[in-house]
Amino acid sequence: MSNLPETDQIQGFMFENIPVRGVFVRLHATYQVAVSKRPYPPVVQQLLGNALTVVSLLSNTIKSEGTLALQAQGEGPVNLLLGECTHDCHVRGLAHYKEPITGESLDKLFGKGTMALTLKCQNSQQNYQGVVSLNGDNLAQAIEHYFTHSEQLPTRIYLGHDGMHACGLLLQTLPTPELGQSEADWHHIVTLADTLKEDELLNLSNREILHRLFHEETIRLFESQPISFRCSCSQQRMESVLLSLGAEELLSILEEYGTVDTHCEFCNHHYLFDSVDIHKLLADPNGPHAPEKKQ
Ligand SMILES: [Zn+2]
Repeated sequence: MSNLPETDQIQGFMFENIPVRGVFVRLHATYQVAVSKRPYPPVVQQLLGNALTVVSLLSNTIKSEGTLALQAQGEGPVNLLLGECTHDCHVRGLAHYKEPITGESLDKLFGKGTMALTLKCQNSQQNYQGVVSLNGDNLAQAIEHYFTHSEQLPTRIYLGHDGMHACGLLLQTLPTPELGQSEADWHHIVTLADTLKEDELLNLSNREILHRLFHEETIRLFESQPISFRCSCSQQRMESVLLSLGAEELLSILEEYGTVDTHCEFCNHHYLFDSVDIHKLLADPNGPHAPEKKQ
């Protein structure tokens, strides 16, 4: 068995005798693609890497099919941070910022801000949303606070970052802990996990980390799943955005620029509509138009 750390993989595990589960995520190519879409300064790259790691970790704890989205907004230098992970492990994210950025704490990055976690279920219109105050030094602490206090699910998140990789480990009590010593057990597990160093999280394999931290416990490690950057934008979605502007607005853009050039903020894919496309779209809003974008 290789001792190299698993990259662009997500892997869950469970303690056999303690009602606690865990998840590992280590992003490399996925993270590099996400931060290549804009000239982000290093501190914003790290923030985006942390956001993608957090949504990947949390999505692994959710059974329903859909997309888990994190959206943080504030009045500070970073005014928007988005991260999303689908149930089949496709992530995307972006950040809006303005220089200068003078610190790394949530307070310095966002100023006064809030963060929403939304589960967009695939097969229903229902979304589930929880709002998190942006308190704490980092995203991990803000999320821990939310799960521990709003969801009554004690949660611990460890994040790592080295410029090329973003990684994380999540520990969470199971929703229906068995009776007895769950609180003492949780405390025991967290005390051990708190000894994990960032470079260990980045550079050791999941199995090795579990052995170092919890070698006295029996742990079931689930099969890992590949994770990748993939955007869910499409020609059809862009057409609905254009249609929502209204015919008058669309035609005036067309008149001014000759074409309607739109692009997806997550992946930078351009969708170019010429006069023929726009008139077809307006004449038959629901009909098939240009072929779907290839991923
Ligand atoms: Zn896109």
